[in-house]
Amino acid sequence: GPVAATPAPSGPVFAGASAETPSDLEARLISAWFGDHQVLQDVSLTMPAGQVTALIGPSGCGKSTFLRILNRMHELVPSATLAGEVLLDGGDIYDTSLSVVEARKRIGMVFQKPNPFPAMSIYDNVLAGLALTGVRADRDRKDFLVETCLTKAGLWNELKDRLRAPGGGLSGGQQQRLCIARSLAVRPRVLLMDEPCSALDPTSTRVIEETMTELAREVTIVIVTHNMQQAQRVSQQCAFFLASQGQPGHIVEYGDTDAMFSEPIDARTFDYVNGRF
Ligand code: ADP
Ligand code: MG
Repeated sequence: GPVAATPAPSGPVFAGASAETPSDLEARLISAWFGDHQVLQDVSLTMPAGQVTALIGPSGCGKSTFLRILNRMHELVPSATLAGEVLLDGGDIYDTSLSVVEARKRIGMVFQKPNPFPAMSIYDNVLAGLALTGVRADRDRKDFLVETCLTKAGLWNELKDRLRAPGGGLSGGQQQRLCIARSLAVRPRVLLMDEPCSALDPTSTRVIEETMTELAREVTIVIVTHNMQQAQRVSQQCAFFLASQGQPGHIVEYGDTDAMFSEPIDARTFDYVNGRF
């Protein structure tokens, strides 16, 4: 018999698909320089839709630079130059037909230090990214979006009675989850997270890890972490970066996370994941 169609949320905010779907992200032969200093060499990595990919490796090996290249953030550094391609569902994010704003809308970023707008209300913080996208939403749509995004970030129950309170008054863990909610409001296909829990206590860290596992159903996640237990808890795929003896940052090995931790191929990976670096 006929199936009653559930009306999909429509209107400007939800133009396009009615449900969020994650995207494949692929880096091909990425090399990067700051001036004359090469920091990445021939980094190729597929970050499959719906998975969490963890980037691990010692400080200075180019993980943050690689993450920034994935959403064109490195363009903010005038001395940065790049070779290679970044493909989102097969489409080049550096294609001149795609604006930087459009690229960053599809590929969101969360940083180590939570950076909500401190004086702005929790409610307005969630919606702050919309202004960039030029999307207009009426009051009902905004309410719906704020509730949806705070729920996805695991914050709705905690904060629903104080949406007008300033974002800066929240705990560190709540601020980071607010930043996740803010990233989600523009409906990204990929979420890049650069050491998102490094500044947080273990309880907040666990809450964010649980959130991540849920989120991965609708947004592809790439996380940089120095916490090997975290990499094993949250990721299905892992890439080990290294820069050594004048060699720019590169991927030593990558693949299934459990396999990489239990039987790494390269001795240097073995040493790193066992804390001997
Ligand atoms: P990681 O995140 O793995 O610690 P980074 O990507 O931050 O590594 O840094 C990789 C290399 O690039 C380092 O040698 C660092 O000093 C250099 N680097 C990072 N950002 C800049 C910048 N804005 N200008 C010049 N050099 C930079
Ligand atoms: Mg870094």
